[in-house]
Amino acid sequence: MEAAQVVTSNGNADGNYQYEIISWFDSVSKNAAMVQTETLGQILHLNYGVEYLKKWFGDMKIQDMDACALESLYASLVPLASHADFEPFIQRIADGDTAPILTQQPITTLSLSSGTTEGRQKLLPFTRHSSQTTLHIYRLAAAYRSRVYPIREGGRILEFIYSSKQLKTKGGLTAGTATTHYYASEEYNIKQEKTKSFTCSPQEVIFGGDYKQSTYCHLLLGLLFWDEVELIASTFAYSIVQAFATFEEQWEEICSDIKDGTLSSRITLPRMRKAVLDIISPSPCLASQIEAICRDSKASNWYGIVPRLWPNAKYVYSIMTGSMQPYLKKLRHYAASLPLVSADYGSTEGWIGVNLDPCLPPEDVNFAVIPTFSYFEFIPLNKKKQDLTSGTVGYIEDEPVPLSQVKIGQEYELVLTTFTGLYRYRLGDVVEVAGFHNGTPKLNFIFRRELILTVNIDKNTENDLQLAVERGSEVLNKYGGELVDFTSHAEVMHQPGHYMIYWEIKGEVEERVLGECCGVMDASFVDHGYVVSRRTNSIGPLELCIVETGTFNKVLDYFIGNGAALGQFKTPRCTNNHILLRILNLCTIKRFHSTAYN
Ligand code: AMP
Repeated sequence: MEAAQVVTSNGNADGNYQYEIISWFDSVSKNAAMVQTETLGQILHLNYGVEYLKKWFGDMKIQDMDACALESLYASLVPLASHADFEPFIQRIADGDTAPILTQQPITTLSLSSGTTEGRQKLLPFTRHSSQTTLHIYRLAAAYRSRVYPIREGGRILEFIYSSKQLKTKGGLTAGTATTHYYASEEYNIKQEKTKSFTCSPQEVIFGGDYKQSTYCHLLLGLLFWDEVELIASTFAYSIVQAFATFEEQWEEICSDIKDGTLSSRITLPRMRKAVLDIISPSPCLASQIEAICRDSKASNWYGIVPRLWPNAKYVYSIMTGSMQPYLKKLRHYAASLPLVSADYGSTEGWIGVNLDPCLPPEDVNFAVIPTFSYFEFIPLNKKKQDLTSGTVGYIEDEPVPLSQVKIGQEYELVLTTFTGLYRYRLGDVVEVAGFHNGTPKLNFIFRRELILTVNIDKNTENDLQLAVERGSEVLNKYGGELVDFTSHAEVMHQPGHYMIYWEIKGEVEERVLGECCGVMDASFVDHGYVVSRRTNSIGPLELCIVETGTFNKVLDYFIGNGAALGQFKTPRCTNNHILLRILNLCTIKRFHSTAYN
């Protein structure tokens, strides 16, 4: 049974729908192994004869083949691949080649992932199936949530959502983030109509393209509709924390706009201004109530501001796992007693799993794999003993296994075969099997393999850091200095977060030169998420910390003191370890802040 079929054939808003979608998931999860075999069969039959598959299958006729035989043939003929392997094929599609390269259906839209491959943003195919699965997982998760936290039909969602710009590739295809495509799709409207829950902000605010102006309008409209708001949501928790940090600064201006029915001169985008002004009208009573709450709340450092302003809200909903965990503390502060419900697990490549236990605290959430969305394989990963001291984890990999053969407690890297034309694609995420829902595994997200530096939507790998440091040290070398060792840290305790790079150097170098090294490194991170966040200052200037001679020996001593062997030691290239950071900060003798984006 394919996901999209369920949505269209049962797309009504009543309680029946919730019952039906949960029964559907029960049925596919009970038969997960068989459903997976069928899903692979569907993908391969739909895309029979495409160039990528022909490379491995040749002219072999797969149509009449038994689904189980096809599954084992597939694993034996088609190799595991990374984004780099697909890149030339996707590039040809982007450049306008309309031949059936990855899929039989022409691809007209491409997604830009926020992840990076050696500092470059990834282009991935996006099809109608992508929007349909987004709608489907949203409704499935909503059905589970409504059993615990029912919400009122016709209510509103205060959603802190933002689209990216949609660009045209050389071949005329639309490219943007997957969420942008979704907000622009028919499915997004269907979601609002069928769930009878409406976002407070109109499309002009979501698609404004300036996150500061959009945030102001989201807050303003959320407050205007205060009594209708049933939940507060965003894709990633970071956006909610950032929105309330803005609110702390701008609440008086927002109140004044509510009082007079005006719109701050901060909002300069004409379409956004018009759309918001069309909605608002003077509400002096509401403005004075909000003002009173804010004055009082400010005195307690804004603790519990969310339920005070939106007393009918049932919960806060967003991705709070993985790289979003550092924001949980602040989110809890704003939300106080309001439940935090952690959202589902997916990627630009495809959706993976749904949170079936909305009551669980975000730290304990896991995701049940949806076996109709893609064909999933799992590469067993076993930690290498000698890498215990390293910031990145080294693994010994085993042969990939199908979904039906995963084991509880084992860590795996996920491999996807998707309806959008990715075949045995290594996602790079490390997950652990926490248990099963019927026959489908429930996954704990561990981390993105090799992802080391992240503040919000940015994602930089060890390789990206290495490249940036190399560029910076070229400048250092030019002036007679030498880099002895380095490490890094993503500072997220203060807003805006920023990257800190610690350098131990040899030789006398002028401060001016070190300032230049700092700027060069900042400008060398070309990950799209980082660049956009730096431009908008939602990530602050990179900080270069020069540590005194011998600091990295102290770091080594610390690891040795904790049982590491000298022969096994590798400097962690990125660290959140408090003791290590204390050593590094105590030993810092000079600090430089990048001016690269001034
Ligand atoms: P992107 O495709 O650039 O949007 O990034 C997708 C990646 O974000 C995934 O591969 C994960 O590494 C991470 N991610 C997505 N959803 C979750 C989640 N619920 N929990 C933790 N990490 C997530």
